Amino acid sequence: MRTVIRERLYLFDTTLRDGAQTNGVDFTLHDKLAIAGMLAELGIDYVEGGYPGANPIDSELFAADRKLDTTFTAFGMTRRPGRSTSNDPGLAALLEARADAICFVAKSWDYHVHVALETTLEENLASIRDSVRAAKAKGREVLLDCEHFFDGYKANPSYALACAKTAYEEGARWVVLCDTNGGTLPHEVEAIVREVVKHIPGDHVAIHAHNDTEQAVANSLAAVRAGARQIQGTLNGLGERCGNANLISIIPTLKLKPEFAEFEIGVSDEKLKSLAQVSRTLDEMLNRAPNRHAPYVGESAFVTKAGIHASAILKEPATYEHVPPAAIGNRRQVLVSEQGGRANVLFELDRIGIAVDKDDPRVPRLLDVIKERQTAGYAYEAADASFELLARRALGKVPNFFDVGKFDVHVEHRINAKGERITVTLAVVKVRVGNDDLISAAEGNGPVNALDLALRKDLGKYQKYIDRLKLTDYRVRILNTGTEAVTRVLIESEDENGEHWTTVGVSPNIIDASFQALMDSIVYKLVKAGAPA
Ligand SMILES: [Zn+2]
Repeated sequence: MRTVIRERLYLFDTTLRDGAQTNGVDFTLHDKLAIAGMLAELGIDYVEGGYPGANPIDSELFAADRKLDTTFTAFGMTRRPGRSTSNDPGLAALLEARADAICFVAKSWDYHVHVALETTLEENLASIRDSVRAAKAKGREVLLDCEHFFDGYKANPSYALACAKTAYEEGARWVVLCDTNGGTLPHEVEAIVREVVKHIPGDHVAIHAHNDTEQAVANSLAAVRAGARQIQGTLNGLGERCGNANLISIIPTLKLKPEFAEFEIGVSDEKLKSLAQVSRTLDEMLNRAPNRHAPYVGESAFVTKAGIHASAILKEPATYEHVPPAAIGNRRQVLVSEQGGRANVLFELDRIGIAVDKDDPRVPRLLDVIKERQTAGYAYEAADASFELLARRALGKVPNFFDVGKFDVHVEHRINAKGERITVTLAVVKVRVGNDDLISAAEGNGPVNALDLALRKDLGKYQKYIDRLKLTDYRVRILNTGTEAVTRVLIESEDENGEHWTTVGVSPNIIDASFQALMDSIVYKLVKAGAPA
């Protein structure tokens, strides 16, 4: 057996710190804990949580009882000029935070030391030295973020290097070279990092790239080629202005490209398969539409559209794919052409366990319905249960359990006896089950909640199958399909066995879209449970 010893390359995520600077991104404590857990699970070595002491959420995050298998890192400033480390409240909060590591940010561009910090070059070095020493004394692993390192190096190489060397010599585990303005180009990064590693060993040098010329990923890889052994970035490239280096693109490149085979990272082959899901989960948390064209993980990343490619790709995928989509948890799709579309539908039917002959005339009919509905805004990719129902109906395999004759939702906004403004919602649903007409009414905290409660209140002989069904998530997105805006509702449900499924509804009317998704969820449960017709 041949043993290959690979060099360790470390990954550092700053989604919760730099990523939180993105316009329109506002993480709650719950979000931050969930993201940190997801990053640790993925195998990210360092997770930067934020600035303890600087805002209430970050203070709570650092106080929280986290059990994460990662080096949880606090971020903050070195001691202020002219103060001692024992007389700097900001530094004290950082040193007291429950973190495994501390990342200090310091100026490394002489111009910034004079203009922004209004101090001397020597005092800035002393601040770096004292801060690293104080954190080491507290038993923390230390990183020094050299702000504007590349611009600083171009202006005054010996001073930029002196900042980095001061931290390293004082015992900092990592010196982080930051392209803070994001304007440095890959060949410059590579040349400068090559100089730096002559003074500081590469396995103590990290790269932190911003994406202002859309080369943050390229700059990160250039730094690794030159000897740096830690990459900092964010999920989906989140970050202020144009974002940070995108770990979701960097990770598969490191894992799957032979050029980087000499490196070992903390993300296993098995975890790599969850990458597409990680990327989409973050988008869901931010209530953002995922970028369909995102490299590796986007819905379109492995789509082939018709023509001669389609048949070739089905015979030998490697002919048109640079890496296998399943490696990052994505999938191959072949669209549009009759032949390709049919193969795709057969593939999907097989995936959900419906056996059908490949020449079955119902398959092209189903394909037409899917195309039509996708154009209208239905997202079957995200709603497996609705897709399965659609397919089973087209193949004539779903009993007509019940009919909803009519429903009525009444929203009343008024002033109650105590003089308070209140909103009361009442839904009434008329359902026919067999020969019985059942009428149910329910009040809810909103129209969809009331409708859901009324619909599931009495389904006669089917009631026992849905008694323990609950809705676990409800997401609304406004889509612009051609001329008018429509609402797409995705509902996630859970049953007594802990099984989850997602259904979709689309309509110009939010209540109607919700109703469709609710109906699909109930019918799906009845089908799953094998309820009699
Ligand atoms: Zn940054």
